[in-house]
Amino acid sequence: MPTGTTTSAGSRKASPLNPRTTHREFFGFPGSVTVMATTVAVLYTWYFSCNEHDGCELPLTAARWQHILAGANNYQAYFNLQALKYYTLWWLWLAALYFILPGSRIQGVALRNGERLTYPINGLTSFLVTALTAVAVYVKTGTAPFLWIAEHYFELAVSGLIFSTSLALFVYIYSFRHSSVEREGKPVVMLALAGNSGNPIYDFFIGRELNPRIGSLDIKCFCELRPGIMGWVLLNVSFAIKQYVESGRILSSMWLAIVPQICYCIDTLLFEDKVLTTMDITTDGFGWMLAFGDLTWVPFMYSLQARYLSFNPVEFSTAYTVFVALLSVSSFLVFRLSNSQKNAFRTNPDDPKLKHLKFIKTESGSRLLVSGWWGMARHINYTGDWFYGLAQCLATGFGTPMTYFFSAYFLVLLIHRNYRDECKCRDKYKKDWDRYCEQVPYMFIPYVI
Ligand code: NDP
Repeated sequence: MPTGTTTSAGSRKASPLNPRTTHREFFGFPGSVTVMATTVAVLYTWYFSCNEHDGCELPLTAARWQHILAGANNYQAYFNLQALKYYTLWWLWLAALYFILPGSRIQGVALRNGERLTYPINGLTSFLVTALTAVAVYVKTGTAPFLWIAEHYFELAVSGLIFSTSLALFVYIYSFRHSSVEREGKPVVMLALAGNSGNPIYDFFIGRELNPRIGSLDIKCFCELRPGIMGWVLLNVSFAIKQYVESGRILSSMWLAIVPQICYCIDTLLFEDKVLTTMDITTDGFGWMLAFGDLTWVPFMYSLQARYLSFNPVEFSTAYTVFVALLSVSSFLVFRLSNSQKNAFRTNPDDPKLKHLKFIKTESGSRLLVSGWWGMARHINYTGDWFYGLAQCLATGFGTPMTYFFSAYFLVLLIHRNYRDECKCRDKYKKDWDRYCEQVPYMFIPYVI
C-alpha cells in the first residue's frame, strides 16, 4: 500500500505530474464512440460479407445486407461460452509464461515521475514454448483442435471483443486506485497525458493509466506483444491446416500469405525490447483502443487473407508467385534494415561500422541520421512495412477487393502515425527538425512523396 499525502481529489485538483487532458485525440467523446462502433462494425461486416457460406462478393446485394442485419439482431447466437473459455485460457497461459520463463529484465524509458519500470524479455521464448506445445497437441490429437479454431473463428472473435472490453473496463476502474495519493510529491498512479480528461467514455477509450500493472505483469506491454500477435499465428496455422484437410495440400498462395505474417510476428518478438521506446508504451494509455486493437483487431482482422484462402483456395502462375515472393522479401528487407540501422545508431552512434553514416546534431542532444536508409525518406520503414502487407493481400489474388482491407487500413494507420510522429519531433527538435526536413525532404518514397 502506498503511503503518502492525499491531494484534494474531491476538488478534482490535478497533480502537476498528472495534469488534466486539454487536447483530446480522435475529436474527444464523439470520435471515441465513432471509432469503437466503426471498428466493431467492420469486424462484424467483414465476417458476414466474406465467409465460406456466402462467398466474398462485392457490392453487397440487398439480400446480403438483410442477412448481415439479421445476424446483428441474432448476436447472441455468436456468443459461445466454450470459445470465451478457450480465449481466456489462451491469455492466462501466456500470462503464466510471462511470469515463469527465464529472460533478461530490462528497464523502460524514464516516466514523468522519474521512475523506470522493469520488463521481462521472454516473448520469443513464450512463442517457442507455445509452438512446441501446439506441435505436441497436433501429435497427440491430430488436426481436430486447429479445425475447431478455424471453424469457430467468429465466436472466438466475439470472445476477443468481450475479453478486451472487460479488460479495458477493468483497467479504467483500476486506474482510480490511489489516484489521489502522492509519494514524495509524485503521484503513485501515472496517468496518460491524453487520458485524464474527466470524460469517462473518452478516458475509457483512449486509456487513463499509462502502465497498468498487476504485480509485475505489465498489462499494456503484455497485450501489445503476446496474446494477439501469437493468436494471429495460431489462426493462420489453423486456416492452413483447414485448407490441407479439405484440399489435400497447402497451396503456394497460402504460403505466400502466412509465411510473411509469421515472420513478421517472430520479428516483433525478436526485437521485443524495441517496443519499450515506441509511442504506444511511452505515451499512450491502455484503454479500449489498445485492448481491442491488440487482442481482437490484430489476430482476427489481420488473419483475413488466410481465412479467405482456407475456403477459397487460389492457384497462381509461377511468374506471379515469384513476383509476390520478391515483393515480400524486398519490402521486408527495407522494413527490417531501416529499423535496425536506426536502432544500431541510437544504441551506439560511435560504432565504427556506422562511421559512413551522416547525421545532424540537435540541441536536444540526439542525433538525426541524414544518410543511409534514413536519408532516403523520413519514414522509409513505414514504406517497407506497407508494401510487405500489400504482398500478403496480393497472395489472395483478385477474386474480391475485401481481402485488400489490410492495405487500405494500414495506409491510413501509417499516415496518421507519421503525422503524430512528425508533430512530436517538430515539438522536440524545433529548428533542428526543419533543418532535417530540408536535407531529407521525402516522407515515404524518395522523389515521390
Ligand atoms: P519509428 O521507428 O519510425 O521511430 C520514430 C522515431 O525515431 C522518432 O520519433 C524519432 O525519435 C526517431 N527518429 C526519427 N527520424 C530519425 C532519424 N533520421 N535518425 C534517428 N532517429 C530518428 O516509429 P514507430 O515506432 O512508429 O515504428 C516502428 C516500426 O513499427 C515501423 O517499421 C512501423 O512500420 C511498425 N509499426 C507496425 C504497426 C502494425 O500494426 N503492424 C503499427 C505501428 C508501427 P526520437 O525522439 O528518439 O528522436
